[in-house]
Amino acid sequence: MPARTPQQSHPVSGIARVAVPSPLRRLFDYLIPANTHVQPGIRVRVPFGSRELTGIIVAIVDQSDIETSQLRPITEVLDHDELIPSHLLDLWLWAANYYQHPVGDALHSLLPAGLRKKSAASIRSHHSDPSQPEITPTDTDIPTPNNQQDEAIRAVNDSSGQFNSFLLDGVTGSGKTEVYLQCIDHILKQDKQAVMLVPEISLTPQTIERFRQRFSAAIAILHSGLTPRQRLNAWLEAASGVARIIIGTRSALFTPMAQPGLIIIDEEHDASFKQQDGFRYSARDLAVLRARHESIPVILGSATPSLESLYNANTGRYRHIQLTQRAGTASMPTFQLVDTRRQLSEPGLSSDLLLATARHLKQGGQVLIFINRRGFAPVLHCEDCGWTSECPSCDARLTVHRKPPHLCCHHCETRQPVPDHCPDCQGKSLGTGGTGTEQCESALATAFPDTPVLRLDRDATRRKGELERILKQINNGEPCILVGTQMIAKGHHLPGVTLVGVLDADNGLFSADFRGQEFMAQMLIQVAGRAGRASQPGEVLIQTSNPEHQSLQTLIHDGYHALARTLLNEREAAAMPPYGYLVIIRAEAVSMAAPQRYLTLARQVINSQIHSQQLNDIEVHGPLPAPMERRANRYRQHLILKSSSRSVLQSLLTPVCQILEGRSESRRVRWSVDVDPLDML
Ligand code: ADP
Ligand code: ZN
Ligand code: ZN
Repeated sequence: MPARTPQQSHPVSGIARVAVPSPLRRLFDYLIPANTHVQPGIRVRVPFGSRELTGIIVAIVDQSDIETSQLRPITEVLDHDELIPSHLLDLWLWAANYYQHPVGDALHSLLPAGLRKKSAASIRSHHSDPSQPEITPTDTDIPTPNNQQDEAIRAVNDSSGQFNSFLLDGVTGSGKTEVYLQCIDHILKQDKQAVMLVPEISLTPQTIERFRQRFSAAIAILHSGLTPRQRLNAWLEAASGVARIIIGTRSALFTPMAQPGLIIIDEEHDASFKQQDGFRYSARDLAVLRARHESIPVILGSATPSLESLYNANTGRYRHIQLTQRAGTASMPTFQLVDTRRQLSEPGLSSDLLLATARHLKQGGQVLIFINRRGFAPVLHCEDCGWTSECPSCDARLTVHRKPPHLCCHHCETRQPVPDHCPDCQGKSLGTGGTGTEQCESALATAFPDTPVLRLDRDATRRKGELERILKQINNGEPCILVGTQMIAKGHHLPGVTLVGVLDADNGLFSADFRGQEFMAQMLIQVAGRAGRASQPGEVLIQTSNPEHQSLQTLIHDGYHALARTLLNEREAAAMPPYGYLVIIRAEAVSMAAPQRYLTLARQVINSQIHSQQLNDIEVHGPLPAPMERRANRYRQHLILKSSSRSVLQSLLTPVCQILEGRSESRRVRWSVDVDPLDML
């Protein structure tokens, strides 16, 4: 680098490298005014174009690549003490780099909204939150861990103060949460903090209550329903050490802790840990990295671990701890397949399932019917001419809803009134195809007129308090039928449920996504896990038109782990994750040709990088239309990269993204990079 003579116009004391919220994949340098104390991890106000923005100092340097005379000074220092500890700042930077997201935008999106502005980072004293009655924990009913739990707790406790990752692989109801609680207890006694991430859907009052009952330590809860002020307070309480336990969804992983002690990812297989837009990070993968940075243990818990985590356990990267028995007196449910090609009486319901429902209700049990499709029916069609209710904006059909009556696209939310005649042939014979939760609910209400039928899906729980009301009714223990989507598959403890019916297991078997079967198996086992959690044994009936399908057979006869082994072998043969690594570059635009043209350009940039860096071991596929090519009036294309080496992909992507970012074509489409994508949609 040529020597430079700084031409300083004002007295300065060095240069600050600042992450500024912008779509550019780079940091910006600013002069530090003399007599100003700054350090990495604090917020500053800086001029940016004609605006002034809040940025975060990432490093202090002596030299800039830009002439010092061209640099502008920091306008204001917002924090006097470090706001983001250095190891967390490193994690953020690493993540922005790895997931190929503009660094300033990544940092910004992880700060609570209250800190993205000029406001001071101080906890507003609120301490007695009126919505949270003071609870005195009752230690009396702490169960004595069984042998397997004891081994798990001991292993984690033994590695406190050092990095270690544990896969806590325990069947539903085996007492994983109890293990978390006892490990947290150990951490608290050492004056350290613990953070637990849970899937969005399972951060229920039940979960929080269980923690409040156990610990008198302050708990900070972080989820999307908080006001900016509440979120900021919770974040600062964790950062300052006031809060000893932090429970939150995905982004809570980036909460600073004054005395970090333990990280827990509950239901680690859950898709919600991967952000699916903007900064597409995996909180699960980053949790392991954070634990390493902070030299603390991390527990990944699940009854149906992801194939990635099982692979890491098999290769010794994670310590594999299994809980094979249900805790207490509960036993495992039994599975049975029902062939829907032979018997279907009521819409979508087989006679076997109806008979089993009647039997369980009569014995005082509750019945859970799982169907992952809301609305009345997935399509309206004309019996005369074959017209179907297509969405005008997507390659998808409009779903028929009856409560209230309308047609709705579940991909773009387009709504239309239900026509009373066919728009094409004017005929009057309109019929519905397939079954959704509403239809299932009304069919069951007709078949069991004396039993309450409760529906639990996004439509039924839109009104605030409705979910709690339904759960309360279920928890009174009276016989009832519960019809629901995946909302019920997770987290909820439904001790009265003795029968689970799964209406359609076929979707995942023939999915376009390479993870389709893995997701299907996880879903089935998780739903089944709702059954028989108390002393009553549970029964699970799975309806399918492919009862002979090898994966279903393996799953119900030999269990999740046997299927996981088969699927891992298939992944290995195909060099797919976790044996290979994928990146999807997505592009979308209103015009049909633009995304394809753009990704063709991207492919050229990639090829020339592969050539100039002499990279091996990279496959490039596409541009290809996305599985749903048109959505919300935009056409979508994919370019897929595959390699057996993460570092090869990284050395390719970093320059490719820099080059693409500078091209004017990049401003004519919406484009994004998804590293380790969770789905190929
Ligand atoms: P998981 O998180 O694996 O689904 P939980 O920790 O929620 O399991 O435990 C399931 C139920 O069993 C809970 O009601 C819990 O209080 C109870 N339980 C857990 N461990 C024990 C134990 N060692 N002895 C008796 N009951 C237990
Ligand atoms: Zn018609
Ligand atoms: Zn649509």
